[in-house]
Amino acid sequence: MKCWICRTEYAATREHLVKASDLKALFGKPSQAKPLFFSASNHQSRSRCRNVKVGSLKSDTLKFEHRICLTCNSKRTQPYDYAWEHGSLELRSAVSWLLEEGSFRANWLFPYDTRRCMLHMHLYFTKLFGCLLVEDSIPIDVAPFAKALTEGQPHPRIYLAFGYLPLPVVAAGGSAVFTDPYLLNGQVAFASWLYHVGDLAVKVMYARPGEQPPVPM
Ligand SMILES: [Zn+2]
Repeated sequence: MKCWICRTEYAATREHLVKASDLKALFGKPSQAKPLFFSASNHQSRSRCRNVKVGSLKSDTLKFEHRICLTCNSKRTQPYDYAWEHGSLELRSAVSWLLEEGSFRANWLFPYDTRRCMLHMHLYFTKLFGCLLVEDSIPIDVAPFAKALTEGQPHPRIYLAFGYLPLPVVAAGGSAVFTDPYLLNGQVAFASWLYHVGDLAVKVMYARPGEQPPVPM
């Protein structure tokens, strides 16, 4: 099977559902003696599972079922991964200050090369969202996602919002993709998805071309 991002190389590797660095930041490094517990009940393509023991951050349990190619999973999207690794760390370590301020400036989050780093963080979530669309066969055209990722340009219909969402337990993960039930020409008009690491939530929103951008959380 060809990789959905580049559409040229053989899809042989699997992307993490939740970034390994986010899991490591929250839980440390798991081991067979000190495993993580993985639960999934929302992803359509996954069989329901609860508290599956995971002894390594490289475990396939933590990854999407479908595959992308090695180049897209490593060299092509690594700058996007690093941008989120930095963004996640900074946002989580400044929660109390951010709650007082209510917002942050991009050049606070990325003091150097701000515009490019913000773009890369946007592309990290564009990649994950695209993987979710493919995984769950959601009727949204992934070609603009692939174009954004390969050209390093923003997806003009993807929006991110960051928020504080306290959870009763320490957890990291993603919701199911919420889609507007009304299709036009077989395509979804609006979709959103929530990624969370600890109490930090990232809402990823999509609006089809021609539709108003969605209102954040
Ligand atoms: Zn590829």
